[in-house]
Amino acid sequence: MDRATLVGLDKQHVWHPYTAMEQYIAKTDPLVIVRAEGVWLHDADGRRYLDANGSWWVSTLGHRHPRLVHALTEQLGSLAHVSLAGITHGPAARLGAELTALAPGADRAGVPSEQKLSRVFYSDNGSTAVEVAIKMAAQYWAQNGRPRRTRFITLTGAFHGETIGATSVGGVHEFRDVFGPLLFDVVHVPSPAEPDGHARALAEVKAALAADPDGIAGVILEPVLQGAAGMWMSSPDFVREVREATRAVDTFLIADEVFTGMGRTGARFAVDLAGVMPDLLCLAKALSGGMLPFAATLASERIFQGFLGAKDRALYYGHSYCGNPLGAAVAREVLAVYRDEDVLGQVQRKAPRVKAAFERMAATLPGLVRPRAVGMVGAVDLGGGGYFADSGWRVYEAARRRGLYLRPMGNTVYIAPALNIPDADLDLLLAGVEDSLREVAAG
Ligand code: PMP
Repeated sequence: MDRATLVGLDKQHVWHPYTAMEQYIAKTDPLVIVRAEGVWLHDADGRRYLDANGSWWVSTLGHRHPRLVHALTEQLGSLAHVSLAGITHGPAARLGAELTALAPGADRAGVPSEQKLSRVFYSDNGSTAVEVAIKMAAQYWAQNGRPRRTRFITLTGAFHGETIGATSVGGVHEFRDVFGPLLFDVVHVPSPAEPDGHARALAEVKAALAADPDGIAGVILEPVLQGAAGMWMSSPDFVREVREATRAVDTFLIADEVFTGMGRTGARFAVDLAGVMPDLLCLAKALSGGMLPFAATLASERIFQGFLGAKDRALYYGHSYCGNPLGAAVAREVLAVYRDEDVLGQVQRKAPRVKAAFERMAATLPGLVRPRAVGMVGAVDLGGGGYFADSGWRVYEAARRRGLYLRPMGNTVYIAPALNIPDADLDLLLAGVEDSLREVAAG
């Protein structure tokens, strides 16, 4: 089918995420991608684009890493899907063992076994990984003598997903306000990434815990890097301090590492930068290397034990595709590739170049503010304007003409490419971002 016909069908039938459709149908000439390999997207016109954001941050090993393709096809040859109801299978069981062995603190001596993240609950995507954590925490408290513990503390700018529970604990107005009446009540505290935010955020977390120690089910946060807020970054110290505050009143810390997990910050998990073990850890996106939807929520042994003993203590949760063998097999191979290709080492080696490039852009081009970077994420803001202001789109267009697929979030221009991006492609990417910004800055 030719390109024009495809675009016609798309515009007639497909409703795109986070897209104002009238404008899209009238004005957008979408990329029609026919193939992707490594960091490159190939379109129907024979052009290629460097994927600056790893396809909404999932593609940490590049598109169609040969070992992941192989693992997927191998698994497809024997078992594509079966429910985990009274059944188990190799990929789910073995991945469970491998993930918990890599979990924060797993190899630390002297950690009480009840604090270890020794249990895994599988689901399909980042939102459900968070939803699982919310329900696990709430049900744990309900059946372990603290039934009033139903409120969560969350940060301004937090993004935890699309489902109603995950939206409820979110803190970006644009994403939650329209659903306001449907959302449950949470305690919002400022983000540590806001100017002078760290001390204020910590004080408000402590105050909220002190005000209602019997009512707080947990604190949920994206450690170190709040992605969808606009790549807001903060010190690992904040995570450590919140951990101490939650331990002081014996409530939970939920780390949403859907974006930051699996090496994005240069550590395997962002909480590792703080030396912190959360009670619940949410993973998705990179867990299956951008191959297919798959997610996991790691839970402490204490939480798991809270579901044993009495007659009816099933966690009231389960999706059709929980523990899907294809996803689990690919995730196992993702872990193996990280080990064999020293992906974390690669990020640590390349990260200073990303940071230096964004700092240079902000220092040399007009109108750029707040250059920042952590691991394989670099970002800078276009000065002035609201969240959905226009200049981000001008950067997108300028980048597209240069063979870069770069989608700013509002006025934040950022990159979050594959962690194993080859050096030469990283050079191309950084130069392309700089050139695109220069073009837009020139007006
Ligand atoms: N949590 C965080 C921190 C995220 O960045 C995202 C997605 N951007 C989600 C949860 C939701 O993940 P998904 O889109 O896979 O549902």
